[in-house]
Amino acid sequence: MEAPVVNIGILTKKNVSFILNDEYIHVETASFLKGKQRAVWRNGKILFRSKLYTELFFEPTNKTASFDLKEVTIGVDFHWQRKEDQRFRGALNLIAGADGIIVINQLDIEEYLTSVISSEMRATASKEFLKAHAVISRSWLLAQIEKNSRLANKKNYKSSFQDEEQLIKWYDREDHAIFDVCADDHCQRYQGITRASTPIVEEVISETRGEILMSDSTICDTRFSKCCGGVTEKFEHCWEPIPHTYLTTVRDHTEKNVPDLTNEKEADQWIRTSPEAFCHTTDKSILSQVLNNYDQETTDFYRWQITYTQDELARLIHRKTGYNFGKILDLIPLKRGGSGRIEQLQIVGSLLTYTIGKELEIRRSLSESHLYSSAFVVDKGELINGIPSRFTLTGAGWGHGVGLCQIGAAVMGTKGYNYKQILSHYYQGATIEKHY
Ligand SMILES: [Zn+2]
Ligand SMILES: [Zn+2]
Repeated sequence: MEAPVVNIGILTKKNVSFILNDEYIHVETASFLKGKQRAVWRNGKILFRSKLYTELFFEPTNKTASFDLKEVTIGVDFHWQRKEDQRFRGALNLIAGADGIIVINQLDIEEYLTSVISSEMRATASKEFLKAHAVISRSWLLAQIEKNSRLANKKNYKSSFQDEEQLIKWYDREDHAIFDVCADDHCQRYQGITRASTPIVEEVISETRGEILMSDSTICDTRFSKCCGGVTEKFEHCWEPIPHTYLTTVRDHTEKNVPDLTNEKEADQWIRTSPEAFCHTTDKSILSQVLNNYDQETTDFYRWQITYTQDELARLIHRKTGYNFGKILDLIPLKRGGSGRIEQLQIVGSLLTYTIGKELEIRRSLSESHLYSSAFVVDKGELINGIPSRFTLTGAGWGHGVGLCQIGAAVMGTKGYNYKQILSHYYQGATIEKHY
């Protein structure tokens, strides 16, 4: 069976210059085209070869045909933002949008996966770790495509509730309407075949061809994060309160006993110590498989610590939440998930007491960028006139902790576990099925 195709939204632009490096069929006029082309947005339509269209579709005449897109902006909002020409395989679809031409690449999903995994993963990673990642990327992608085909009757998720005493909010990915995935980090970074794919990734994709993770006859929502901190988190503590049987608490170790980290006392003891776990490693050769160069500076993610002065913390929380708490008197965990991540944190101030959640809202409110995780315990410094002079947060793990723990999985890969064992460890009860 043929692999399905994926529609990837590359960019939206008023002027699209592109080069068809091989012969393409221009579907609207049933003609063959090759070479330099230009399409211009004109009041909600696309001007192409002196005619107006609402949509243009260019279909390749052979499997290796490619086209180049001129001046694609990459690294939007990063210090390295720049423009480059990019090369793609597959079909090119231009759609007239409300404020520009939406450029979409339609491609066989196995080819798409080869490209994204080559650019996201290090070639030094163990093959079994890469295979596990291939299966979860494919599952996520097929779930997106399926979702998109039922977009018409898509339910509207509520993603927060708020009253005078609390704001509990979660951040899930919003879906796209006109295409399945975008080419940015929002979905998975994709640059076509601009950079060569790595041979090991090509092997990994072909050896897992069509394989996805299933549970209860649905494709698994294959979440993953950098480091669970020793126990993985349940889905409902981070996002909408709907349990997913395969996204549950798992002790990230051969030892299977999971401590009850929803209990404050047990969480406190767990976070202040460094129990053995697959992701408890400082081995640079393993970390370099998962973290990009910048992140390799970081080895203190399994257990970490940050200290704020009263002034720093009060100003930070004011700026991040928009609420003036006055002096910060206490930070009290009201509810923790199974990994020890705080789901609801009460901030007690001299002017206001208010509860925030879930984990990402807490991480954003208590850090200039993001706290590593919301699995932390709080120590207050010396009291001056009843007001703590400092707050120290001691924490565990990096990211939301739900699903596959990347650092743990990389360690499992080097310890000789195969990808099926890795996947069934992190996604309990899920099965690998060959979709095509
Ligand atoms: Zn996206
Ligand atoms: Zn872990």
